[in-house]
Amino acid sequence: MNQIGEHHAVVGAGLIGGIWALMLAQRGNKVTLYDRRPDPRKQNNDVGRSINLALSDRGWKAMAKAGVDGVVREIALPVKGRMMHDHAGNQFFQQYGNDDQFIYSVSRGRLNMLLVEEAEKHPLVEVKFDHPCAGYSLVENGVEVKFKDGRSIQHDRLFGTDGIYSAVRGTMVRNDRFDYTQKYIPHGYKEILMKPNNDGDYRIAENGLHIWPRGQFMFMALPNPGGSFTCTLFAPYEGPESFENIKTDEDVLKFYNKHFPDAVEMLPNLIEDWNENPVSSMCTVKCFPWNDGGRVALLGDSAHAIVPFYGQGMNSGFEDCTVLSELMDKLPENAGNDEWVKMMRNYSELRKPAADAILDLALHNYIVMRDKTGDPKYQLQKKIEARIASRHPDKWKPLYTLVTFSHTPYNEAWDRGEMQQAVMNEVMTIENIEGVWEEDSTIDFAIETLERYLSDASSMSRPSPLLSVDV
Ligand SMILES: Cc1cc2nc3c(=O)[nH]c(=O)nc-3n(C[C@H](O)[C@H](O)[C@H](O)COP(=O)(O)OP(=O)(O)OC[C@H]3O[C@@H](n4cnc5c(N)ncnc54)[C@H](O)[C@@H]3O)c2cc1C
Repeated sequence: MNQIGEHHAVVGAGLIGGIWALMLAQRGNKVTLYDRRPDPRKQNNDVGRSINLALSDRGWKAMAKAGVDGVVREIALPVKGRMMHDHAGNQFFQQYGNDDQFIYSVSRGRLNMLLVEEAEKHPLVEVKFDHPCAGYSLVENGVEVKFKDGRSIQHDRLFGTDGIYSAVRGTMVRNDRFDYTQKYIPHGYKEILMKPNNDGDYRIAENGLHIWPRGQFMFMALPNPGGSFTCTLFAPYEGPESFENIKTDEDVLKFYNKHFPDAVEMLPNLIEDWNENPVSSMCTVKCFPWNDGGRVALLGDSAHAIVPFYGQGMNSGFEDCTVLSELMDKLPENAGNDEWVKMMRNYSELRKPAADAILDLALHNYIVMRDKTGDPKYQLQKKIEARIASRHPDKWKPLYTLVTFSHTPYNEAWDRGEMQQAVMNEVMTIENIEGVWEEDSTIDFAIETLERYLSDASSMSRPSPLLSVDV
């Protein structure tokens, strides 16, 4: 193990900071994990933020590498597919993958706490709450982490895991040739809790992520252990049916009765939650590079913030930890700063295309979820794809499967998804596709078309009009 005995700072004890601090300590480094917030064991810091999150394979890989997958499984609830709710109250189930492929619903607060506590158990980790970072300065043989109260503490290296409004990135922004963009989408979200019924059971199927797709807006529900669901309304901030125009209790009821009549009767505390919970914004962040020489690196939302519609923000941050850790494995013992610079640059260059791809995929999936998942043609296409994938698992990998249940870099997953979408566009033009979709000839046609595209892969290039993003 290389670099034993260095003293690193990890700024941000969120989801990514906890696991990253542990991974660094497991390499034999002393780590101080700083967070601006008070200790969450003493107060709830997550009011108004998504209460549960979907954890999938990329996240599990990092958990396993840090040796915490076992404890995390104890708080994770398996979810097998999407349950679509149409206007008439009909429900349609779409399984995410094979019978053994699940995403897992986990409480944000519990997972965060568990990861920080697992890190804290390591004798080389010290956690310091109430330490808001204000940036850093590079100094001879190290980095000085600056705090808002004016203090500075010197470390060998600094890892910024301080989220979307990162103070560590705030210093990098002033560096020459540092690229940075931040963009808010026109939609916000509000959370409503669906409590268990009087028997303490789930009111709707617990193995599904429930979606009420309604064009410009969408209602969603993800199960929690104990019988409740965290529901989220995604809607525009402005416009005829928007957060700005749903003002009174009557407006709320009118809106829900019009668009989600089957849900409204399962939300006895709708008005109470609506009035108490804030409307939160969603924003994307892109930047480059993710390192400052060999001394500072960004991981998680500080490097790449995305919208939540692919359930990959946290998972991609955990993948940063896996990738950076694997690159550190290859550093020679007693590596000098030049080797660190090379390795950190490599990390940044390797992850950037993947992060850009999942950012665009997540924006695109918003449109798919709210506009397309309720469309019978789209549902038929998904059924055909599932059939092709089950017959030819070695040749056909649905995009969702590649993103959620594989470790294929997101950009490669997207390229493959584009190609398969082009094939499906041809399949859907087969005469009487509704009647012949189960026939072998349809599957053979799809595979032959895919092979034709694969033999001329250069004809496909991103971004293509198939998945063009326009929220
Ligand atoms: C509505 C919603 C739903 C989501 N659902 C999913 C999902 O299902 N699956 C998924 O994978 N992702 C999901 N995400 C994305 C996920 O929440 C983020 O990607 C994830 O929280 C990023 O983790 P992080 O550790 O980088 O940042 P954060 O979790 O934001 O943690 C940052 C930490 O840094 C601390 N901090 C901030 N500034 C400072 C400072 N100046 N000094 C010291 N400390 C500081 C904060 O207090 C915090 O503890 C969702 C996001 C939203 C908004």
